[in-house]
Amino acid sequence: MNFYMPTKVYHEREAVKNHREEMALLGKKALIVTGAHSSRENGSLQDVTEALEATHTSYAIFDRVEENPTVACVMEAALLGRKEGVDFVVGVGGGSPMDAAKAIALMIQNRDSSEEVLYQNISLRALPVVEVPTTCGTGSEVTPYAILTRRDKQTKQSISQKFFPDLALVDGKYLEKAPLSVITNTAIDALGHMLESCFHAKATDYSRMLCQYAMEVWGAATGMLYGMEPEEGDYDRLLFASSLAGMAISHTSTSLPHALSYYLTYHKGVPHGKAVGLFLPGFVRALPEQYEIQVTMALRALGFGSLEQFEGFIREMLGTVSLTEEEVGEMVSGVMANPEKLSTPIFEATEEVVREMWPV
Ligand code: NAP
Ligand code: FE
Repeated sequence: MNFYMPTKVYHEREAVKNHREEMALLGKKALIVTGAHSSRENGSLQDVTEALEATHTSYAIFDRVEENPTVACVMEAALLGRKEGVDFVVGVGGGSPMDAAKAIALMIQNRDSSEEVLYQNISLRALPVVEVPTTCGTGSEVTPYAILTRRDKQTKQSISQKFFPDLALVDGKYLEKAPLSVITNTAIDALGHMLESCFHAKATDYSRMLCQYAMEVWGAATGMLYGMEPEEGDYDRLLFASSLAGMAISHTSTSLPHALSYYLTYHKGVPHGKAVGLFLPGFVRALPEQYEIQVTMALRALGFGSLEQFEGFIREMLGTVSLTEEEVGEMVSGVMANPEKLSTPIFEATEEVVREMWPV
């Protein structure tokens, strides 16, 4: 068993402002990496620029990170970072800018390397990274992963180099005005991380501890997904659950629902959390009978009385996506060609079992 989580996390109101000196210690000039709109609307970008200005730290902004960022987008931002002479990177936004920030930090540091190194099994260093999450799903602020869209392979894939952000500045206030669809999809991504990590071949008591508490915290904050008024602290609870689940997958990796989801996102444009969520009931159904007690306990912690109730929740929240038989076949065979992912669940992932995870 091992436990390694080197990211320094501050989760509190005004985390960015309160810890600006620590952020400034990471370098002299930052590249802020963010999406086109939301970080301007929820105040996170302004908080970061104000924090840098207050500490006399220069910065440049790359604000063109698209959802499910591509390798090309990373290379474009890295070029800007090199030109601007930055020596650290700040990711502001959901998993897309946060993941992109890690890959960009790597490509700025290794200035003479081409994009191929992202997917080569060699060990490279990266510039320091700060992450400021504004969604409650990926946990990317505490994971060593950066998932990019690969046009060459027509799918999404985590880059080969793994490194943790140096600093995570977490503040639930950025979620307060987010549309319910963003909260729902990303909360369900975090739910996927919890379930996939909890029932993972590499799970340990450390990772299960993280999942178990993440499930309780998540279960206590999901009233707003059903349209109820959020209670004081609910956004922070969802973010905390998402960070805990991120720490759990940092130790285990994700499993089949994530592997299957990449097809739906790449080919059908389905948002990440929704794409993962559609496979979760099938994943839970596939768990061997001897895990019945653990499954019941996990579902209870999350606030579900039964598997049927959980399935109803997923249907109500996510609806359906239609795929032809041929598309389902293509999606399943993509995963069957990935032995690393097939080895992740605690059951044998035969083609039949994997196919059964697609809800019809
Ligand atoms: P996202 O792709 O970062 O953002 C989705 C949408 O939400 C964008 O339109 C974004 O707008 C908007 N948005 C973000 N924060 C908002 C806020 N506070 N209020 C209103 N709108 C907001 O979504 P995500 O689900 O967080 O990230 C998905 C990516 O993370 C995928 O590429 C996935 O593969 C990856 N991921 C990574 C890990 C990991 O361990 N590293 C784990 C799971 C998933 P803007 O574009 O304007 O910002
Ligand atoms: Fe995910």
